[in-house]
Amino acid sequence: MTGPLSSADTGLAPGGGGGISPWRRAAPIVALLALAALVTAAGWLGYRLTYDTALDRQAERGQVQMRLYAQTLESELARFDYVPSLLSLDARVEGLLRQPGNPERVAAANAYLAALNGRAGTRVVYILDARGKVLATSNFQRPDSYLGEDLSFRPYFRSAIEGQLGRFYGVGTTRSESGYYLSAPLGDRDKPAGVAVVKIGLEPLENRWQGNDSQMLLTDENGVVILASDPSWKLAALRPLAPAQREKLDRSLQYNRAPLPPLALTTVRELGPGPSEGGDALVRLRQGPPMLAQHLALPGTDWNLTLLTNISQARVAALNSAALSGVLAAFVLLLGAAWNVRRRIVSERLAARAALEAANSELERKVAERTADLSAANQQLHAEVAERTRTETFLRQAQDGLMQAGKLAAVGQMSAGIAHELNQPLAALRTLSGNTGKFLERGDHATAQENLGKIIGLVDRMGRITGALKSFARNPSVGQRGTARLAEAVDNALFLLETRIAAVAPAIERDIDPHLMVACDPNRLEQVLVNLVGNALDAMAAMAGRGAPRLSLHAYQSGGLVHLTVRDSGPGLSEAAFARLFEPFFTTKPAGEGLGLGLTLSAGILNENGGTLTAINHPEGGACFTLALPEAGPEARHVG
Ligand code: ADP
Repeated sequence: MTGPLSSADTGLAPGGGGGISPWRRAAPIVALLALAALVTAAGWLGYRLTYDTALDRQAERGQVQMRLYAQTLESELARFDYVPSLLSLDARVEGLLRQPGNPERVAAANAYLAALNGRAGTRVVYILDARGKVLATSNFQRPDSYLGEDLSFRPYFRSAIEGQLGRFYGVGTTRSESGYYLSAPLGDRDKPAGVAVVKIGLEPLENRWQGNDSQMLLTDENGVVILASDPSWKLAALRPLAPAQREKLDRSLQYNRAPLPPLALTTVRELGPGPSEGGDALVRLRQGPPMLAQHLALPGTDWNLTLLTNISQARVAALNSAALSGVLAAFVLLLGAAWNVRRRIVSERLAARAALEAANSELERKVAERTADLSAANQQLHAEVAERTRTETFLRQAQDGLMQAGKLAAVGQMSAGIAHELNQPLAALRTLSGNTGKFLERGDHATAQENLGKIIGLVDRMGRITGALKSFARNPSVGQRGTARLAEAVDNALFLLETRIAAVAPAIERDIDPHLMVACDPNRLEQVLVNLVGNALDAMAAMAGRGAPRLSLHAYQSGGLVHLTVRDSGPGLSEAAFARLFEPFFTTKPAGEGLGLGLTLSAGILNENGGTLTAINHPEGGACFTLALPEAGPEARHVG
């Protein structure tokens, strides 16, 4: 299946196509983003933990503070608990209730109440009859005195007339002064004759709260702020008031028709069970900074303490912690990255070393293999060299043997002539020796002497013939070198072939400088010359009857070589002879006459001595062989 490579294939192939893949290019950015995300997460976690812990601590401190405030408040209020009940014991009060219209009784009661009020430190102390009308009051002297007022609508009156102790926070209707009202029934509890009321100012408590970083609020059963460290928050509603509730409050004049604006507190986050269950929460006043809101129910009342504290310190601590966590995380991550890089480098190094060791051992193995191969080849080569040397020696011996054979063949060819050559002097010797005897008998000593001289000449001649033959047939030692005088070698060859020359009787032209010396063993050179001249004689013998035979021997020097041409007037070299002239055993002569070794051996001898043998057919007919040999110095003389 063939098809275009998808971009994902090419893009993700590691190092594919020569370019850097997009994934590789994006990797550092991705790593940086991941680092940033981790650092941010660590910072966020640090922030969150520190923030929550700081808030918890702040909440604990708040709880302690609120409990302290609650205790103070309780004890402050409890201080006046006894006052209304105390009044029921007093005779002046009792007298007033019995005779409410008696001005003396009223005056006595008023004086007593004023004195009590002054002593107890309360705001007002007053007595109501069973219908709620003020009979006597500590502030009887003031123009805005309650005296004669009907306060039956007040809840504290109702509670007391029903035989219970009344507690009530409210705003005064006459002077709009807020205060805490304590009431108690006077006389029989089941059917009270009147009600005693004490009004207490709570401002001293407020003053103690002020000057703090936090805001303390006291809310009553309606959720209306009745005490606040910030006076401007007073008589504000902590939670929105329902219309029915507001109507009821208006009727009871509890807050003397105060507008009761809602306190714009919004919950940012709830901590724990939630503010409705009295739990802590983070709140915000209008657009202000968030604050920690805590609540505490005041025991024995429907009132609630609310503490609002600034959380800026917690935030600062959390931000510091976030920064520290972020830096720490970045440090740890970078440390991890550095460690990872180091680990990779170490593992890469180990891998490279292992690869190197593997390559090294592979190389060593190959070298050992190669060395073994080479030494095997070397041994083989040695064996081959030895074999070649043996073969060469064998060949040389064979060649020498062949030369010898060639020479012996030439001797064989010459044998008939030699026999004739020897027969002639032998016959002459016989005749001369017979004659000599007769001349001695006759006393002709002079003629006998002359004959004896002829006999000696004939014997010498026979000795020369056999000596030349012996010397020709001699097998020279292998590789023998020397120098030869060319003219002398030619003389010897012609002498050896004398009989055959006489048979052909050619005209011999000879042009050889007697001083020419060549670098060759004289015996070998003679062998070459006997071959060449012998072949020429054979060729001319074949032409018997057709023209006068002629043999030319001509020597000349050229380029450090001495050349000798042997030209005959024979039929020349045939086409076949030209092609195979120096091939061993090539001959055109009848069996028993030619071996086909002469030219092969001659060329070999000349080559061995640094020379050459060439052949051409002369334009004027006949074959022309040229031998060339290095020239030897004139001082070198024939030693053989
Ligand atoms: P062989 O003389 O025993 O035949 P050679 O090697 O001396 O062997 O000669 C090879 C052949 O070369 C001869 O048989 C002859 O055919 C030819 N040849 C040599 N010399 C001559 C010559 N001068 N003229 C013609 N043919 C020759």
